[in-house]
Amino acid sequence: MTISETQRQTLLNMVEDIAGPEVKKVAIVLLDSEEETTDEIIAEELDIKLNNVRKALYRLYDIQLASFRRIRDKNSGWFLYLWKIHPERIDDIISTRRKEVLNKIKMRLEFEESQMFFQSNCEHYTRISFQDAMVFEFVCPECGEKFEPFENEVIINALKLRKDELVNLIKAKNGA
Ligand SMILES: [Zn+2]
Repeated sequence: MTISETQRQTLLNMVEDIAGPEVKKVAIVLLDSEEETTDEIIAEELDIKLNNVRKALYRLYDIQLASFRRIRDKNSGWFLYLWKIHPERIDDIISTRRKEVLNKIKMRLEFEESQMFFQSNCEHYTRISFQDAMVFEFVCPECGEKFEPFENEVIINALKLRKDELVNLIKAKNGA
């Protein structure tokens, strides 16, 4: 299937985001192939180790962006794996991914809001839990610097903002 340049960019950005630059390279080869492709052809084209290509392919399979078909090579009798990318699944994958990220943000937010943190003015403890700070009697065990409350309001606000953004994106998608 053909996809627009924007869709292609969205897809590749997401792949890089989730799985890294090497998997992205493999995804590009798959997108540019007219037909199904084998791991060997991809390895040759990219000059990447076959093993790494396989790992990348399974990563794409794992996020449901690629599928494979196994056939027996008539000459060698060995199995060949023919890989194919499914750009049409991108919307579903993105919305699943957004929900996962939203859950992580919610958990992190709960963590940030339910705890008190401390920090020392020295470089030894940039952030420490209330319980740990208490164990050290609120002074740095390395240099004796006092611990002070660590304000995590900025973090909390940033998380809330991201949470709202995601909630709106998910709502918009469901409404469409
Ligand atoms: Zn210190």
